[in-house]
Amino acid sequence: MAETIAAVATGNSVSGIGVIRISGDKAIEIAQKVFKSADGTPLAELKGYTAKYGNVYSRSESFDNAIALVFRNPKSYTGEDVVEISVHGGIFIVEKTLEEVLAAGARPAGPGEFTKRAFLNGKMDLAQAEGVASLISAQGQEAAKVSFNLLKGSLSSEISRVLDKLIDCSALMAAWVDYPDEEIPELEEDSLIKVLTDSKSALEKLLKNYENGAVMTQGVDTVIAGKPNAGKSTLMNMLSGAEKSIVTHVKGTTRDIVENSVRLGSMVLHLSDTAGIRESDDIVEAIGIKKAVEKIDTASLVLAVFDSSEPLGDEDKMLIDACHGKPCIAVINKTDLDEKIEMDIINREFSSVVYISAKNNQGAQELEREVKKLLGLESFDSSQPILANKRQKQCVANAYEYISRALEDAQNSVTYDAINVMIDSAVDELLSLTGKKATEEVVNNIFSRFCVGK
Ligand code: GDP
Repeated sequence: MAETIAAVATGNSVSGIGVIRISGDKAIEIAQKVFKSADGTPLAELKGYTAKYGNVYSRSESFDNAIALVFRNPKSYTGEDVVEISVHGGIFIVEKTLEEVLAAGARPAGPGEFTKRAFLNGKMDLAQAEGVASLISAQGQEAAKVSFNLLKGSLSSEISRVLDKLIDCSALMAAWVDYPDEEIPELEEDSLIKVLTDSKSALEKLLKNYENGAVMTQGVDTVIAGKPNAGKSTLMNMLSGAEKSIVTHVKGTTRDIVENSVRLGSMVLHLSDTAGIRESDDIVEAIGIKKAVEKIDTASLVLAVFDSSEPLGDEDKMLIDACHGKPCIAVINKTDLDEKIEMDIINREFSSVVYISAKNNQGAQELEREVKKLLGLESFDSSQPILANKRQKQCVANAYEYISRALEDAQNSVTYDAINVMIDSAVDELLSLTGKKATEEVVNNIFSRFCVGK
């Protein structure tokens, strides 16, 4: 019998209401020790999906009004009996209610333990559980959409579709190899090749979409670079909608790299506001510049900021050089002032150019469009099944390898038993993706990254 667990399901901050979630065989009995309904009805008499208004108690003294919502096994998030007690969302009250629930016999839930129980009780598979984690941490609209699709099972059903065909194939081949005297219909080579070709292309599509999905769900590592005073901090503030880096008239003040995440339309950019690119005798400044160039080398996206009110200087040229061959957008700032910059050079050196006035908050939409274009996200379809993380990608990449080898063997008429070994290995990889064959270690690792209460 699984122990009954409890945790605060809402955030650790002052809010309208806070929810304490209890799950396990004794959930209702334990909740009853802390909560009394106003009309005296015991929680044990409630049907699933029923709520009661009442009070929460410490010994015999009530300390808040509350609502208890009862879910009956198996129709709950975890598949067990669950009670959710909603109290006023003060941190003290919420913690106090949890303490009382624990004193009444529940044990504190570990990270992701509710979702882990949902997985173990067959309410969702591993890919869906990872969709829950991904949805909770989604920072943009597209990320939320992709994660919700994962949670709804879009990836799981695509994987199942491939799995069903491979398993059918494998069973037929195994039977034919093991019982050559029985009247088992031989698997035609053509239909084997068709199944393998279809499976390979379905897996290939998932792998191809992985990078785009990762950008959408996890964000883009972005560097904002430019000479001192080009307007990097102002651009960053425009994107974050807040004064996060210090904007000054003194050149070279943003010396260190200030990490920040901002939303650009439906995407999330993880920004590094780098020190200005320029040759300098100042050691501190020089370190800042070195960092900036290093960051440009490894960034997924570089916003190279130029001050359009000045002709290009040596520092601008250094930046242009550093941007060669990198995923860069030339961001031409201060378009509210007279243009002195040599745009012919910029247009020659950059395939992607955007005009903005960071100070006047102009140009964010154009910037979003260019970023999507540069990263190949214009036609990104968030309703397609997407691999949400490296673990899922690795499973699919391994399965893809096995299927490719099986297909090659099938085309070269290698014996069925050898091909079947490859197919079975691919099946194992896909089963571990959805969790049907995942090791305890993998499962524990996944849920350890969840927050407590989920
Ligand atoms: P950084 O050194 O590249 O971070 O540059 P800052 O963001 O600190 O900006 C330097 C100066 O340029 C500040 O005085 C900003 O107010 C000004 N500035 C930034 N963007 C614009 C703009 O679009 N138009 C105008 N006129 N001034 C701007």
